[in-house]
Amino acid sequence: MASLPKTMKGVWIEKPGGTEVLQYRTDIPVPEPKDGEVLVKNEFIGINYIDTYFRTGLYPPPHYPYILGRECSGTVVALGPNTPSDLSLNTRVVYTGQYAYAEYTPVSANYTIPIPDSISSKDATAAILQALTALTLIREAHPVKKGDWVLVTAAAGGVGLWLCQLLKAVGARTIATASTAEKRELAKKNGAEALLEYHDEDREKFVGKVLEITGGEGVAVAFDSVGKATFDAVLKTVKRKGSMVSFGNSSGAVDPFTIGRLSAKNVKLLRPTLFNYIVTREELQQYAAELWEFITKDKMDVRIHDVYPLKDVVRAHQDIESRKTTGKLLLQP
Ligand code: NDP
Repeated sequence: MASLPKTMKGVWIEKPGGTEVLQYRTDIPVPEPKDGEVLVKNEFIGINYIDTYFRTGLYPPPHYPYILGRECSGTVVALGPNTPSDLSLNTRVVYTGQYAYAEYTPVSANYTIPIPDSISSKDATAAILQALTALTLIREAHPVKKGDWVLVTAAAGGVGLWLCQLLKAVGARTIATASTAEKRELAKKNGAEALLEYHDEDREKFVGKVLEITGGEGVAVAFDSVGKATFDAVLKTVKRKGSMVSFGNSSGAVDPFTIGRLSAKNVKLLRPTLFNYIVTREELQQYAAELWEFITKDKMDVRIHDVYPLKDVVRAHQDIESRKTTGKLLLQP
């Protein structure tokens, strides 16, 4: 085992709040891997919208101080007891888990997989959480069929661009919403067929446009990550026996919902999270294998918005919250 330093760089929070609670530190003790864990020396850290929920307390962290960050790539530098043989020392890996905003992270082997030679560490990090979210949504939340009309909100964001590409690959027809013309153009380049503004001032206009595009029927499934601001209008765009998949809160948490509203069109309502689709290592391996295949065989565009040094974490949170990013923002320790 390589000799490891005693302390490391990392970003933690001691209380919920705005970006002012993000503390970049150089004195965090290097953790040791426990049973079933490997210690990873991080190379690229992925920024996800969920990081802002843990920072603000919308999703309460399990303890304070709390190191943010849900995904990363790097190299295995130490093994805890009972780790699988494909995670030996020096293996290049990508993981979804906790405590990624740091130089070293102990991660459960369940959530850690080797990166194939054909995929760069940067691309693997950019893909693992957002692309797997998109993949599990179209396979499990609502198994999308060829020819289905699908609505995707925030379509030029991290998860959004993956949804556009994967939906195109499976033969679905995507209606994409995004806040600027440039973002909508990017969604189109990534496979969206019809482009829409949110029509913030007139949600009925938005609903009408979706119905018009789909010949009056509505979409087979709507994937909405914007949440509070769009939920009601998006629900109205779903056709009879279709699915409303609400998977994010970028504009705030969806208001409490009266279940009886679903009977108007026998719509299925889901609120899934990636982490409950990849609970076992087998599930993660199966979805990751399918994802690597999509990236290499279908030549999917892994869009990296930018790479910032870890110490610029405040800028990273500000950029994602102010809707400035398209695709993936990464940090480097
Ligand atoms: P994005 O890169 O998509 O960034 C969020 C986007 O949301 C913005 O770019 C913006 O796009 C849009 N948006 C709309 N309204 C607002 C608002 N009021 N404030 C900020 N942004 C707004 O982030 P991610 O790809 O990381 O995540 C997308 C969503 O998916 C998040 O809500 C996240 O929580 C959710 N998610 C859920 C997962 C799950 O397992 N359930 C897993 C991963 C992500 P525009 O300007 O075009 O509207």
